[in-house]
Amino acid sequence: MALKPLDIFKYLPKTNCKECGFPTCLAFAMQLALGKTELVRCPHLSEEGKNQLAQASAPPIRTVTVGTGDNQIKLGGETVLFRHEKTFYNPPALGVLISERMSDEEITTRLADIGRLSYERVGLKLQAELIAVEDTGQGRFSSLVEKACATGKCLLLMSQEVARLREAVKGCLQSRPLLFAADSTNWEQMGNLAREFSLPLVVRGASLETLVELAGKLSGPGLADLVLYPEVSSGRELLEKLVTIRRGAILGHIKELGYPVLTMPGTLTQDPLRQALHACLAIAKYASLVVLPELKGEILFPLLLERLNIFTDPQRPMATPQGLYEIGQPGPSSPVLVTTNFSLTYFVVSGEIENSRVPAYLLVQDAEGLSVLTAWAADKFNAEKIAELVKQTHLEEKIAHRTLILPGVVAGMVGELEEELPGWKILLGPREASYIPVFLKNWKAE
Ligand code: SF4
Repeated sequence: MALKPLDIFKYLPKTNCKECGFPTCLAFAMQLALGKTELVRCPHLSEEGKNQLAQASAPPIRTVTVGTGDNQIKLGGETVLFRHEKTFYNPPALGVLISERMSDEEITTRLADIGRLSYERVGLKLQAELIAVEDTGQGRFSSLVEKACATGKCLLLMSQEVARLREAVKGCLQSRPLLFAADSTNWEQMGNLAREFSLPLVVRGASLETLVELAGKLSGPGLADLVLYPEVSSGRELLEKLVTIRRGAILGHIKELGYPVLTMPGTLTQDPLRQALHACLAIAKYASLVVLPELKGEILFPLLLERLNIFTDPQRPMATPQGLYEIGQPGPSSPVLVTTNFSLTYFVVSGEIENSRVPAYLLVQDAEGLSVLTAWAADKFNAEKIAELVKQTHLEEKIAHRTLILPGVVAGMVGELEEELPGWKILLGPREASYIPVFLKNWKAE
């Protein structure tokens, strides 16, 4: 349940030492209650305080980690029904199935496609994160798991045979796979296997009552990371169950429903278009992991974009890292343009520079993700910061001229920047990014 600032404050040391980055303990408590900082940033909390706050501030849906290192994914961890109430935290992971039913050639192609189908949008790499490996008893399960493991992707190991699952787990333990699945017939053995290797486990059930019962029996010491898999036979049932589980966890505080949810559109229909629609529905309404039966760019790409749009926090502008970007292969006489780190601005400006085919430098100043005019009005895009960035990036060593091109809408900054950078010439570029190609084609270093 969400904690109020004063509930948190009573556990804090109240020394106002500022080590957490906030001026007072109360300010820290307020930000923590809003979910904008983390408990670990206060190094002076007592063990009792840590335990109390960690338990009380735990999200109603448990965060389950699959995979390790840079490739790990976090499932669940959500606290609200609707994004506008606060935010969503962990985008649903997209997985792709490989099965013993497939030929070696099909598997090789699919594994290659999983690595190949990757898209860049607003500085983010969009791709499927997980491979689900299905055991059908043909004796190739462990070798398929090893092949999938070699891709570095997260793994879902799917077998109803505990012995075969145990064998396969040993070959990929370092990648912390998710095990599939405990049901009414095997939950004790599956639970023991998950406990033995400290791995997360999927619980499957045809009804929500079964899921609640099994999750209740399985959760406990040594096994806290569960993922629910509600079996469904129609899109309507899928939606109903996903919504009921989320509402039960968040509004009903039903602990046994407070886990991430897995969906597999391929179990509902053989029609690729309907599978895509079910995946789309699951992403929009509360699935934490969606395993696709096929891998096609024309289906994966829109799903990745849907996910990006739903899980982008509208309260936090998307930002590109501050720095000096090279577009084309700029040299000493190439132009240097300046802009802010609002992702959309960066991509529009860099796109127009690319269109011009004139190699250039783009100096991107951190303006907390604001666009040029807004950042300038808020004094987050100013002459002092740009001059500092010119020095930090050692721009002088890369170019022979001393000219910077500012966005045309900040004419008022020209004089200030000339004062901050003596010896530099400050030019105004176009007011509209679409005129950048013409501007650059006519530009000559002086
Ligand atoms: S680090 Fe802890 S004790 Fe220090 S101000 Fe922050 S919350 Fe208070």
